[in-house]
Amino acid sequence: MASGSQTPQVTIIGAGIVGICCALSALEQGMSVRLVDRAPPAEGTSYGNAGVISPWSCVPQSMPGLWKHVPRWLIDPEGPVSIRWAYLPRFAPWVLRFLNAGQPDRVTAIADAMESLSRPNVELYRHHLAGTGHEDLVRDAWYLHVYRDPAQARLDDFAWQLRSRHQAPVARLDAAGLREVEPAISSEYKAAIIIKQQARAISPGRLGKALAEKAQRMGAEILQAAVQEIRPTSQTGGVLVTDQGSLAYDRLVLAAGAWSAKLLQPLGIELPLEAERGYHLVFPDPGVSLSHSVMDVAGKFVISSMEQGMRCAGTAEFAGLETAPNYQRARVFERLSKRLIPDLNVAGAQEWMGVRPSFPDSLPCIGPMPGHPAILAAFGHSHYGLGMAPATGRVIGELVSGASPSIDLSPYRLQRFG
Ligand SMILES: Cc1cc2nc3c(=O)[nH]c(=O)nc-3n(C[C@H](O)[C@H](O)[C@H](O)COP(=O)(O)OP(=O)(O)OC[C@H]3O[C@@H](n4cnc5c(N)ncnc54)[C@H](O)[C@@H]3O)c2cc1C
Repeated sequence: MASGSQTPQVTIIGAGIVGICCALSALEQGMSVRLVDRAPPAEGTSYGNAGVISPWSCVPQSMPGLWKHVPRWLIDPEGPVSIRWAYLPRFAPWVLRFLNAGQPDRVTAIADAMESLSRPNVELYRHHLAGTGHEDLVRDAWYLHVYRDPAQARLDDFAWQLRSRHQAPVARLDAAGLREVEPAISSEYKAAIIIKQQARAISPGRLGKALAEKAQRMGAEILQAAVQEIRPTSQTGGVLVTDQGSLAYDRLVLAAGAWSAKLLQPLGIELPLEAERGYHLVFPDPGVSLSHSVMDVAGKFVISSMEQGMRCAGTAEFAGLETAPNYQRARVFERLSKRLIPDLNVAGAQEWMGVRPSFPDSLPCIGPMPGHPAILAAFGHSHYGLGMAPATGRVIGELVSGASPSIDLSPYRLQRFG
């Protein structure tokens, strides 16, 4: 395979939204690019997410006091978190790091680093989509966090304070205000906190494909092959062993989402990257629509009108990378969605599972691999990969072309895990 084809300046493993955005930015810097994925573009986790593109994502998953809720979530079969118990011994060290990341002083620093990767996302998506004919795939939207108990919709809560400190345009709505913005929401929901000035993807999979096609038109080669091994041969390059043969690389960007850490193990690099599985259920003929992304705060799921129908997405399931999906986790959304939107037609619902690449501190790894300067990390975007992909791509584009990175990369370095 690839015999006769020249080694491009940049080879990217993974054509999810992160790898695709890295490709676009590297191309814009004048580099030649090859994207390698075992599947067609944007058919992994980037296919089925909730479509939220928030410049204001600065609240990490691990927050002070979160541990108090976990036992209740775990015993509730409809709760937002589940663990396969046989997996617990392997999972426990990650949990300890996760809880440690939730200490107030650490959360503030993590929030700043999240914001640096999120803030320019709507603008960068618009830039990448311009001229593709698919500009409509990213729409202006608000993010409504809805509450049944109005007493819980408190702008002075730590998480909302954190967003306010990062200039997020937030406002509280009472029941009437909520109904005015989204009439389909049940009157059982008595309050909402909204974040304005953001966007939503109406088909995250098609967004990825449209951008991958643009990369191709700009000269990128897209190769379907499963990478079995990364074999560095010098400080400036190496070989990828794939199921289709060997490929030489000069600069390698590892953007293989939740599968990235496994590819690094043979190089002696161990990282606490967890496969945080999430599910969605799409109602193809919903009979109602929403104008915004809506999060049920208690249920911790997001619902949004998409091209394919109404998509309800969420759940954090810890069961390892290879375990078969438990679609019961997705089916739970049927009842929860109906409670949120009573007129929703739930017939013919289609289920999906995806794997969030999650580090304990909610931040990705971006930048050179220790001991292997030709390999750059661009993975681990957990719950925020759709929103953080364009800025990740931009900084990878800067690194591969020798420009100074436009943001401080120290919060994302691999060495932070010791
Ligand atoms: C239910 C759910 C809802 C979500 N909602 C949102 C949201 O609303 N907003 C948001 O910002 N984020 C959201 N996320 C998170 C977001 O989807 C992810 O962070 C993001 O998709 C990760 O992108 P990626 O490119 O790193 O990974 P992926 O999309 O998984 O891409 C990785 C690619 O690498 C390829 N690959 C892996 N191993 C190999 C190999 N050995 N050889 C070749 N190819 C390989 C895979 O085939 C895949 O295409 C959600 C996630 C889930 C599960």
